[in-house]
Amino acid sequence: MQYDVIVIGAGAAGLMCAATAGQRGRRVLLLDHARKLAEKIRISGGGRCNFTNLHARFDCYLSANPHFCRSALAQYTPQDFIAMVERHGIGYHEKKLGQLFCDDGSERIIAMLDEECRLGGVDRRMETQILKVSREADGFALDADGGSFRAASLVVATGGLSIPQIGATPFGYQLAEQFGLELTPLTPALVPLTFHVEDAEAFAPLAGVSLEVEARAGKGRFRENVLFTHKGVSGPAILQVSSYWQPGMTLELDLLPDADAASWLEQKAGSEQLISNALAEFGWPKRFAEAWLEREGCNKRLKDLSPKQRLQLAERLHGWRVKPNGTQGYKKAEVTLGGVSTKALSSKTMMANAVPGLFFIGEVVDVTGWLGGYNFQWAWSSGYVAGMHC
Ligand code: FAD
Repeated sequence: MQYDVIVIGAGAAGLMCAATAGQRGRRVLLLDHARKLAEKIRISGGGRCNFTNLHARFDCYLSANPHFCRSALAQYTPQDFIAMVERHGIGYHEKKLGQLFCDDGSERIIAMLDEECRLGGVDRRMETQILKVSREADGFALDADGGSFRAASLVVATGGLSIPQIGATPFGYQLAEQFGLELTPLTPALVPLTFHVEDAEAFAPLAGVSLEVEARAGKGRFRENVLFTHKGVSGPAILQVSSYWQPGMTLELDLLPDADAASWLEQKAGSEQLISNALAEFGWPKRFAEAWLEREGCNKRLKDLSPKQRLQLAERLHGWRVKPNGTQGYKKAEVTLGGVSTKALSSKTMMANAVPGLFFIGEVVDVTGWLGGYNFQWAWSSGYVAGMHC
């Protein structure tokens, strides 16, 4: 069957692209191997879909070329997506830091995009395995288990590798390689970090404890909550910084980001109070204070600290260093860092420079957002841009 555009992947970016192209009058076929539409939107944001971020800017994204996402983000902004959400009467609220969530479930966003595709006359086929993609003189030919399809434009929106149990595959990366496009290294990102056995055992009793910190790794620096788990650390501060962490790197946590620990310890120098009790002032849960001080060999009364020990403790409170031994991998990662090299694509259209008519959008591209609605905004923006040019 002949179409103008075939979009592979009915997730966030693919739906946006298909709807946009369809509403321009293009005959669009949207294919997905999964049974259900946009499973990642469904599970996102704890079921409420953090669908954009009011502060989405190019510097909230990681990429070998950090400027690549500028054009798409300018062509389709958070305000554009919000306007669509409002047009569909979907209630939303800002949770924190510009993060917009649906008042009701994420299904509202899926239904909205599905409706936009319907308005664009998009032909959608789920549970379709794509067996072969080849290039022809006037476009692309696809052999799928539901038949053979042809189109002048082919848009690849198959996402990243995270959460394979709901349909993630390396299909998009393999297709890029088939057409000679470079990939940047792929790693799980926005992912919990794991500790070596002895650290994990030491902190296992703290599983569930959450604390506001500044987490630092490489060039990443985020002020949010850390959550101790049975295997290591998670929570927004860690997920954020995990995108900057690489094996072998030390993770540094400022455990008192609002205080000046050295002056505080100085003021309390003569106190009979146990340090673990005094730290409750900063909202530290007692069991965390005791376990942390125990490991630092410092579980004593404030008056028993020498001036040198006070300085050392202050340093560690502001820069506690721990060496994770890895991440919890794609099973727990929200996204994949890396992907189709931006060098191979036009930032204005998302089309492959060397393969006219072939587009890559969304997470399969080497553009990875911070936690907080940035990744969906990239999916909407890149999907829209390709939809306007395919
Ligand atoms: P996807 O949405 O993953 O869509 C890819 C589609 O391609 C899927 O439908 C898949 O079935 C299909 N596909 C894959 N392989 C094939 C194949 N071989 N053949 C045919 N079809 C194929 N981001 C936010 O901004 N806010 C959030 O609140 C948020 N929460 C998240 C929560 C979780 C648990 C996870 C895992 C991610 C979350 N993200 C969030 C990230 C966000 O979901 C992704 O960045 C976004 O979905 C990427 O969009 P995409 O269209 O590129 O890929």
